[in-house]
Amino acid sequence: MLQTLSRIRVVLVGTTHPGNIGSAARAMKTMGLAELVLVAPECAFPSADSTTLAAGADDVLVAARVLPRLEDALADCVWAVGTSARRRGHSVPALDPNPAAQDLIARAAQGPVALVFGRESSGLTNEELDCCNALVQIPTNPEFSSLNLAAAVQVLTYSCRIAALAESPPSPPEYDPDPPATQAELEGLFEHLQRALIRIEFLDPEKPRHLMRRLRHLYLRAGLSASEVRILRGILTHTERGGGRPLGRP
Ligand code: SAH
Repeated sequence: MLQTLSRIRVVLVGTTHPGNIGSAARAMKTMGLAELVLVAPECAFPSADSTTLAAGADDVLVAARVLPRLEDALADCVWAVGTSARRRGHSVPALDPNPAAQDLIARAAQGPVALVFGRESSGLTNEELDCCNALVQIPTNPEFSSLNLAAAVQVLTYSCRIAALAESPPSPPEYDPDPPATQAELEGLFEHLQRALIRIEFLDPEKPRHLMRRLRHLYLRAGLSASEVRILRGILTHTERGGGRPLGRP
């Protein structure tokens, strides 16, 4: 229920205006979220402007972590949703805020989940969106689609709160024998996949086209479990060795 909101991490990438960090913290606290991560902010942090605009959500700012790379911010997450004002070429299809929030709340029962926001000027890069399992777009006026960063945080955290309020009381926690893969485990799979595809000469590193991006989207969308990632990596190891009998079989 509402405790689920504490498992939603808000990640702001490359923020330029300290006031937006403060306003985002305020937006989060009003909706019951508390975990803020700043990836390579382009402004000084902490700063007086952030604190002023946080207007009492100072605890969110004090607890905020600053990390150098988006991968570090998402490593332990079981699901990450990127946000964008516009549909990007070669990206996963964009969801509306409400279904995206309902899905995020359901997945938060299994581990940390994240909402990822981009730079004020240019949003998230394609490579950053490639770290996300899904993409959400707030359906704004197509002729003027870009919200202020903290306003976007407000809209999406509100959707999450509504989804959490609507959730039926959770059943008692059960041991899950097959937990979802973390983003770090998925990154390990992608590196292994790329190595194996180069080894079998399916992927030409000189002419990669968009193969790895397409494959990332396929696996990210699937919501793989940790053991499914192990199976896929086992297949890759076997493929890299050139096939033949699987190890340990007569
Ligand atoms: N020119 C940038 C706009 C950046 S606005 C672009 O086209 O992406 C700063 C951030 O606010 C975005 O990276 C995104 O995280 C969020 N945002 C703004 N408008 C949004 C919208 N309509 N839907 C989803 N996120 C939005």
